[in-house]
Amino acid sequence: MDAKPIMDIPTGLFIGGKFVDASDGERFDVMNPATEQVLTSVASATVDDGMKALDAAEAAFSDWAGRTPRVRAEVLRKAFELMMAEQERLARIITLENGKALSDSRSEVAYAAEFFRWYAEEAVRNLGDVMRAPSSGARILVQHKPIGIAVLVTPWNFPAAMATRKIGPALAAGCPVVVKPASETPLTMLALMPILEKAGVPPGVVNILPSRSSGALVDKLLHDPRVRMISFTGSTAVGRKLLHGAADNVVNTGMELGGNAPFIVCADADIDAAVEGAMIAKMRNIGEACTAANRFYVHEEVHDIFAARLTDRMRRMKIGNGLEEGVEVGALVNAETRDKVEHFVADAVAKGAEILTGGEPVPGKGYFYAPTVLVNVPDTAECLRDEIFGPVAVLQRFHSEDEMISRANDTEYGLVAYLFTKDLKRGLALSERLEYGMIGLNRGLVSDPAAPFGGVKQSGIGREGAHAGLMEFLETQYISVAW
Ligand code: NAD
Repeated sequence: MDAKPIMDIPTGLFIGGKFVDASDGERFDVMNPATEQVLTSVASATVDDGMKALDAAEAAFSDWAGRTPRVRAEVLRKAFELMMAEQERLARIITLENGKALSDSRSEVAYAAEFFRWYAEEAVRNLGDVMRAPSSGARILVQHKPIGIAVLVTPWNFPAAMATRKIGPALAAGCPVVVKPASETPLTMLALMPILEKAGVPPGVVNILPSRSSGALVDKLLHDPRVRMISFTGSTAVGRKLLHGAADNVVNTGMELGGNAPFIVCADADIDAAVEGAMIAKMRNIGEACTAANRFYVHEEVHDIFAARLTDRMRRMKIGNGLEEGVEVGALVNAETRDKVEHFVADAVAKGAEILTGGEPVPGKGYFYAPTVLVNVPDTAECLRDEIFGPVAVLQRFHSEDEMISRANDTEYGLVAYLFTKDLKRGLALSERLEYGMIGLNRGLVSDPAAPFGGVKQSGIGREGAHAGLMEFLETQYISVAW
């Protein structure tokens, strides 16, 4: 396990309660996107390592599921406390491997830890049901049992929160897990593991498999009959592949996929509040969020004032290495993401869009892109169809509500929409017409561990967070009882 040590982060696979090398000894590098330098290397799990992790999970399952909900709850509560005690260290690790500003990373750690606290509280609320059958003499008794071993595959944009949002409910439900963190950001999950151990998570209950052969590894796991759930957060393209793979053994799926969020500013909106909301919805995580506002539809009466104020705010943002205090815009995760953003802007401009601020990468080392506002963006621009995943606000004007709703809904995605209006009645009526799993009504942030997070259409299947998130890891069993 020879790797450059960094911040005491283990760099092996975690299987059955131990950090180990990959069975073929392979490792891969983890980069710092702000400096383009290698931070360290981590072990790369093979398919054989995947099987060892399943063996460990299988061995741990009955003991973990058999512990009382209160005992599991206490472990999760402790994990929340320990995680918050290490908030600063974990935030630095996130910034090092992901590039986002420390302020974003600190918020992420707090958000991520909150899933442990929330599911500590949910673990003791696995409620069943009993009723009298309407016509037979039976009683209908309904209980919810752990679904079984779950494979959790997470993305790089929130390396802590997307993991805890799955681990929290899985452990609360009594399920052991095998976690496959994103190859760009495996260190955060590896750094979380000693915290989980200290909190009392027994060997085998959480196993971690960073791998640069994600496709082969996850496919093998999905086709092992011991796996009963795959919970995935990532792109719709990969989600689709996993859904195909899950079909063979009819594995349960939870899919948190891509988005193309509209951000709607009505004529009667409080413009300052809308700009504030836009800064969060667009710039949290440098726009590298499935919930990031991707298309702004602004009523023609307020378009220019909204564009001017948003531009002013975006222009003043401090760009730099995320580890520096005061930096608001860190580096994008890799060259590919930065180049994609550059392509979207070039495409829109070539088709007639106008740049109000930004519009180019920052020269020098690191994958930085300047906060950008585009107006007069034509309908044919690619950035209106695809996730931008970067700090670019794309504005269009609208004239009537009907036209705006039909444009907002004209996408295969349906994760989140934002809507600003002072008229709550109008806001609720329009919300109902938006084909999205979540609506931010006069708010630029919807993520909350207590709320059911998830999308409709090709943005996903199932919900994470809230009581619904616990139910994803539970199987319903009905017993017909001769009372
Ligand atoms: P990605 O789909 O490329 O990767 C996600 C994870 O899947 C990573 O761990 C990756 O290593 C793994 N993976 C890649 N190919 C695989 C394969 N063939 N089989 C199995 N696993 C594979 O996504 P990303 O680039 O890491 O993250 C960005 C995407 O995630 C965006 O589309 C974003 O919208 C989405 N996202 C969605 C949510 C949500 O809650 N809906 C949250 C965060 C991110």
